[in-house]
Amino acid sequence: MIVVMKHGAPQDQVDHMVSRVEGLGLKAHVIVGTERTVIAAIGEKREETRQSLESGPGVAEVVPILAPYKVASVEVKPEPTVVKAGSLTVGKGTVGMIAGPCSVESEEQIFKSAHAVKAAGATALRGGAFKPRTSPYSFQGMKEEGLKLLAAAREETGLAVVTEVMSTDDVELVAEYADVLQIGARNMQNYRLLEAVGGCGRAVLLKRGASATLDELLLAAEYILNEGNANVMLCERGIRTFESHTRFTLPLATVIYLHQKTHLPIVVDPSHGTGHANLVPEMAVASVAAGADGLIVEVHPEPENAMSDGYQSLTFDQFGDMMARCRRVAEAVDRTM
Ligand code: PEP
Ligand code: MN
Repeated sequence: MIVVMKHGAPQDQVDHMVSRVEGLGLKAHVIVGTERTVIAAIGEKREETRQSLESGPGVAEVVPILAPYKVASVEVKPEPTVVKAGSLTVGKGTVGMIAGPCSVESEEQIFKSAHAVKAAGATALRGGAFKPRTSPYSFQGMKEEGLKLLAAAREETGLAVVTEVMSTDDVELVAEYADVLQIGARNMQNYRLLEAVGGCGRAVLLKRGASATLDELLLAAEYILNEGNANVMLCERGIRTFESHTRFTLPLATVIYLHQKTHLPIVVDPSHGTGHANLVPEMAVASVAAGADGLIVEVHPEPENAMSDGYQSLTFDQFGDMMARCRRVAEAVDRTM
C-alpha cells in the first residue's frame, strides 16, 4: 500500500505514520517527491490496515500498489531516480557512459583504456576483476589485484569504477574499491547476493538475466531496494532467442517499457547485447534515441588480443566516433551526455 501524505505535511506527521506502518508489522519506505511525500507500506495488505492508516494525521489517502514490485514502481515514486556515483550521473536527462575493457588484464591495459575513454567523454570506467566465464578453463579475472588497478586508474583519471561482484563473500572487498557494484546477468536471481549488495553502501548496476522477464528483473531490483539502497540502475544486456547471428538479441523496447513502469534509470549494454563490435555503435546510438539513461560499452586497446570478449570490444577510435554520434542524438532527444 502507499500512504500518500497531504501536500506540505510536516515531518513529525511523516515520522508518526512511519511508526504506525511499522507497528502494523509492515516495512516502511519513505519517498520524498517534489509534489508530495509518500510512505510505501510493504507487507500483507488487509482492509483493516488500510482503513487504520487512512485515519492518520496528515494522510491524504491510502492506495494499493498494483504492480508485483513495489518500491521500484512508478506508483510509489513517479519522479525518475538519478543515480550518482563519483563522476557518474545516470538518469533524469543525463546519459552516463560507462566504458572500458571486459576484464582488467594489466596495469598498462587498464590505464591506457581509462585515459582513452575519458578523453572521448566517458563518465565511468568498467572492467571486470571477477569474471563469470562459461568455461572454468577460461581466464577468471585478476580478482583483488584487478580491483587495486581499477582504484589506481580512478585515482589518475577521476573516473568512477564499475565492476562485477559474483559472490556474497566478495561484496565487502569489491565495495572497498568500486563506486558501482555490477550484478551480472548470471546472478540476477541470486537473491542472497542481491540482499548483500543492498546493504553495501554503493550504487548497483543490475543486469537482466539472459532469459529473465522484465517483471523478474524488477522483482530482483526490489531485493536491493528493500535493503535501503535506492541507488539502483537496471541494465538491458540482451536476451537469448532462436537468433544465432548475434550473440544475444537486444530489445530496445525494454527501455521504453521500463520507463513506464519504474523510476529507476535504464542502462543499455550494446556490447553483450550484440556480441559483434561492428553492431555496437549503431545500437548505442539507437539506445540513446530510445531514451536510455546510460550505456555500458566494452573498449580495449587491442581488441584482437583481449583475454575476454575481444570480438565485441571497440578500439579507442571506434569508441570516440561512437561517443560523438551518441552525443548528437542525445541532444536531439533533449538529453545531455
Ligand atoms: C560483463 O559485463 O563483462 C558481463 C559478463 O556481462 P553479463 O553479465 O551481462 O554477461
Ligand atoms: Mn564482457
